[in-house]
Formats: sequence, structure tokens, C-alpha cells
Amino acid sequence: MGRIAASAFMSLRTTIPFSAYHYAIPSRELGLALHSPFVPSAVSSRPAITNNAMSASTSSDANIEVDIASNIASVRQRIDDAVSANGRPQGSVRLVAVSKTKPIEFLQVAYKNGQRYFGENYAQELMTKANHLPDDVSWHFIGPLQSNKAGPLVKSVGLNKLACVETVSTLKLAAKLNRAVESMNEDLVDKKKLGIYIQVNTSGEESKSGVSPGGEVADLVKKISEECPWLSIDGLMTIGAPGDDSSFDTLRLCRDEVSVVLDCDPNDLELSMGMSGDFEVAIAKGATSVRVGSTIFGDRDYSSEPAN
Ligand SMILES: *Cc1c(COP(=O)(O)O)cnc(C)c1O
Repeated sequence: MGRIAASAFMSLRTTIPFSAYHYAIPSRELGLALHSPFVPSAVSSRPAITNNAMSASTSSDANIEVDIASNIASVRQRIDDAVSANGRPQGSVRLVAVSKTKPIEFLQVAYKNGQRYFGENYAQELMTKANHLPDDVSWHFIGPLQSNKAGPLVKSVGLNKLACVETVSTLKLAAKLNRAVESMNEDLVDKKKLGIYIQVNTSGEESKSGVSPGGEVADLVKKISEECPWLSIDGLMTIGAPGDDSSFDTLRLCRDEVSVVLDCDPNDLELSMGMSGDFEVAIAKGATSVRVGSTIFGDRDYSSEPAN
């Protein structure tokens, strides 16, 4: 599948001159090549995704086959099965389709197959995609967010579509988000808060973002709840170390501590954990939101990524 995606990108690169792009997106922000595959003007000039219910037979380019429709169906089935196997109520786990680096066309196929939650890692990429998908999509921001991107992200996507920033682990970022939400609400009759999750570094790896589990999570939550009235602390998120399920237990323990600080039922707080490789395990450990990318959209191609 990696090969499939890579060759799709490659054919784009060779056929579309950069001047054809309507959206100037600094590669620095995206962590992608300038010839980003998700840019819509480029997408429209390449063959449609083949081998799925929505667009079968529109393309002769077998290289771009990613069967998004059946991938989504199978992930949903696996979620339902894991939910049942663990005696949890059906519908208690949200599927966030992680579409980072994938072209808008891929997201549109997922949308046509009923997918409404999408996760993106880069602020500029999310903003561009939100402009090109219907308004009833809920966007989850799941990447590292520089605090100077917080305002533009909130203002560009808006509080109806930006459902959650899952990666808050500093008061500084929370304060920036809070300020942006506050200023947006000045013009709104129906005032809204922005949902956030606290990202916890459950594996202790230096390469991973997030606040350390234990007292630091409770401290951060207390400060955010006191100082950021426009943010709603809806849950906790972790990435975890591959193959180490104990990350999921750790996040669950953090949730109990946070529920004490917020004086709420722990079951009212989300647990965003589990990705392509481990979402069923995460569901067994109590995940309420799983973030699945490559199993739906195919492997990502970072081979052309500029060094940064
Ligand atoms: C990319 C990403 C995912 C999806 O990973 P897959 O293994 O492709 O499912 C989930 N969560 C975060 C934070 C990510 O960056």
C-alpha cells in the first residue's frame, strides 16, 4: 500500500507544475514536499481513486487503488466486534479517520461512506481540507501545535467544525486557544467552547509530546480549568509506545485523577488512544475515540519529506 500511495504522489509530481496550485502552502508548515498531494487543484487533474464503490471504473491507473470504502467498513466492523467482546455499548467508540498527507479526494470518499470525524496533524493542512469538505465534518487536531498556529487554526476552521484539539499539554497553548475562542465568540450569538484533550506522554519517551502522567496532569488540568473558561476539557489523549499496552492503562488512571480535579464522572471524559496497530487493544482498555490512519487510507509516504 505504501507503494501505491507513493506512486500516486509521484505521478502528481511529474504532471502538475507548482504554478498550477491555487493554495500556497509553505512546505515548512506541512512537513511535506511542496507538491503536496492534498491540494485540490492538483487532485482534480489526477485519476479518481479506483476500486471502491464510489468511483469504480473511472481510472485506468491501477497504481492509485486504495479501497477506502471497504477499509472503512472493515475498521468499523472491527471496532464493533471489539466493543461487543468487551461488553461495552455499541456506538461507544468514535472512529477518527486520520487523513494527514492524504489528498482531499481520499477524504471525500471516506465522507461518502459515512465518515464524519477526521484527524489531521498539521494546522495548515487541516484548514485547507476543512474548506473543501462539507460543514458537518468534525475535525480533530492531533499533531503538535505551535502556539502561534492556535489562533489561525481556531479562526479559520471555526468552532462548529473544529471539534477538538487533542494535543494540549501546556498552559501556554491552552491560553492561546482560549484567547482565540474568546475573540471568535465576541461575534457569535450562540457562544461555544472549544473541546480539548490533554495529551499525556504515557510511555515516557523523549520523542513523544505530552505532559507526564501523575501529578503534572492534575496540575495542568486545574490551571486550564481556572484560567481558560472558553476551553472544555473533554478527555485525554496518548500515543503510547508501539506494543506496550500499559500506556492505555496509564491514560485511564490519569482520567480518574482528572475527574477528581474537574469533579465529574470519569466516564464523561474521553480516552483517545489506539491507532491502526492497536485500536482493538485500546478499546479493550477503555478507549472512547480511536485514531486510525493507514488502515483506512494506505501507508503514508514521507520519503520525499524535506529535512527539517
Ligand atoms: C498518524 C497518527 C495516527 C494514525 O496512525 P496510523 O498508524 O496510520 O493509524 C494516530 N494518531 C496520531 C497522533 C498520529 O499522528
